[in-house]
Amino acid sequence: MTAFPCSRCGKCCMSLGRHIRVIKTTSPRSFLISVGVTRETLPVQLVPSLVSLYSQKEPPAWETGWCPFLRREAGGLFSCTIYPFRPRICRGFRCMTMRILDRSGHEAGRVKGRSSLVSDDPRLVELWDDAVAPLAGLPQKEFVSRCREILASHGFEVDMFDE
Ligand code: SF4
Ligand code: SF4
Repeated sequence: MTAFPCSRCGKCCMSLGRHIRVIKTTSPRSFLISVGVTRETLPVQLVPSLVSLYSQKEPPAWETGWCPFLRREAGGLFSCTIYPFRPRICRGFRCMTMRILDRSGHEAGRVKGRSSLVSDDPRLVELWDDAVAPLAGLPQKEFVSRCREILASHGFEVDMFDE
């Protein structure tokens, strides 16, 4: 298992403006929010070092539709300004579950969710479609184990990410 390598591209938070809403401002740095997907209501606070970034509510720092707490920093990376208080759905989110490396250690593909491969390598795509995707109904542990075996026999290595 490898720690999930979030690149802070912000893509996963950009579509969450409809689902994460501020219900009430309880102080200049704290809010009550609702999370539509899980129907939760929870109190959150701004990270002290990100208060000034949060106050930027115009492009390029923030754009309509984004989660109200997402901000683009000057260098282009994205930050969650309530990171320690972020909702459960954000804590558990992984935009990929595994990465597949070729013989030279380069990334040949990424797997999203259970078994959706994203790859530009035609050999890997064919192998996945023919031999791995049909196993998607197996229990998770068995699926991962078979997936590793099949890919390894064709020179690929699987890098799984922590839950
Ligand atoms: S979890 Fe994935 S999509 Fe979300 S910011 Fe990290 S790399 Fe980007
Ligand atoms: S609360 Fe933070 S992690 Fe969750 S969608 Fe908003 S910016 Fe992203």
